[in-house]
Amino acid sequence: MIGAGYVGLVSAACFSEFGWTVTCVDKDPSKIEQLRQGRVPIYEPRLDELLERNIRMGRIGFAADLASSIGDADLVFLAVGTPMRRGDGHADLSFVFQAVEELAPHLKDFTVIATKSTVPVGTSREIEKRLKALRPDADFAICSNPEFLREGSAIYDFMHPDRVLVGCDNDRAQDLMERLYKPLTLRNAPVIFVSRESAELAKYAANAFLAMKISFINEVADLCEATGANVQEVATAVGADGRIGDKFLHPGPGYGGSCFPKDVAALIRSAREARSPLSLIEQVQTVNSERKLAMAGRIEHAAGGSLAGKTIAVLGITFKPDTDDVREAPSLAVVPMLQERGATVRAYDPHASSDAEALLPGVEWCRSALEAAEQADVTVVLTEWNEFRALSLDALKDRMRGDVLVDLRNIYLPAQAEAAGFSYMSIGR
Ligand code: NAD
Repeated sequence: MIGAGYVGLVSAACFSEFGWTVTCVDKDPSKIEQLRQGRVPIYEPRLDELLERNIRMGRIGFAADLASSIGDADLVFLAVGTPMRRGDGHADLSFVFQAVEELAPHLKDFTVIATKSTVPVGTSREIEKRLKALRPDADFAICSNPEFLREGSAIYDFMHPDRVLVGCDNDRAQDLMERLYKPLTLRNAPVIFVSRESAELAKYAANAFLAMKISFINEVADLCEATGANVQEVATAVGADGRIGDKFLHPGPGYGGSCFPKDVAALIRSAREARSPLSLIEQVQTVNSERKLAMAGRIEHAAGGSLAGKTIAVLGITFKPDTDDVREAPSLAVVPMLQERGATVRAYDPHASSDAEALLPGVEWCRSALEAAEQADVTVVLTEWNEFRALSLDALKDRMRGDVLVDLRNIYLPAQAEAAGFSYMSIGR
């Protein structure tokens, strides 16, 4: 497994749990060192216990270089990052191609190289071309095996997938992938074999569809506010339709995270390059950017029209609960806008990675929600961590000097917030 990040580490741990022998390789020596000492470099529920058990069983090991592990591997997974490329927004494939160059000299017997990283349509073919040029003598097949797990429930998702998708055009590779995922097929998880191009494109199409669903309900929430409807009632009624489904119909401050923003941008780019633009998805991207910008205005409005000199408690910095990941989190757009408008921001997040401190200069970091609320004029909920749901609103209100609660995730009931003495603003209700 090349890459010990959110996808690589979880996949490696789950494959070892199936009983396979896995070596997880990362070029970041500090990650490997932590893992060897039994520490998990990311926060993902249950990952620590899964790793601990499989390290103890001798089924998973860690290495900082590829040389020792590639030669003996039947399968090599690429799970390196594919971030947004500076300038044009396309997927930056430099980590993928670098990994391919690094593994090439070590290939021995027939090896399947499977891409778990999210890569634009046509990348498997490009990897194949590059590898053939580097190692004309090597016996290998390239598969696409995009990953659909969600941070925060990654292990559950890996073990109970809606589907496993494999893009493959080689019988030996298909046999190996079937064997690899046998523990899941035995539990009736569908493993779908398609062409490599279809697998690559399906991953982007799925993420773009989910991003579209979020943007859709966000716009409907605005319409609810303008007309007196309640977006939660509307979403329940709409989502009850089996053709639509009730997932991803929760309004909020716009989608973020390490996948949707970059994948939407890369899909738009691929479509334009193929001269088959996706105007609907281009609009989703615009709606989402505007949504994040609009949130600071909402908070300002709730605070009485000006944020100058105000203290704002921000609860939640990660892009969603149960992860430490802050990549493209709405907080990274909203918090600086609050500061630009003259506010002092005090923030608390149960698990946000230390990256947050560098990305959000000037923020006063607190060790609890109540500490953040101390003398605040406004409290803003930006991430729906469970511990915020359980917070005593009376205690929160007592700590503040103001009475404004802006709930951008609709985790409280308006009546409950008002009973605690708050001037309460949520989304679409
Ligand atoms: P990440 O940044 O957490 O991890 C990537 C890891 O790869 C890093 O630890 C990095 O050091 C390592 N790496 C880069 N080049 C390397 C090399 N040449 N050799 C060894 N290690 C190398 O990224 P992630 O969130 O795990 O995402 C990985 C891929 O999976 C991306 O394409 C992403 O779009 C996709 N994906 C992510 C998620 C998610 O929820 N995070 C879900 C589905 C798909």
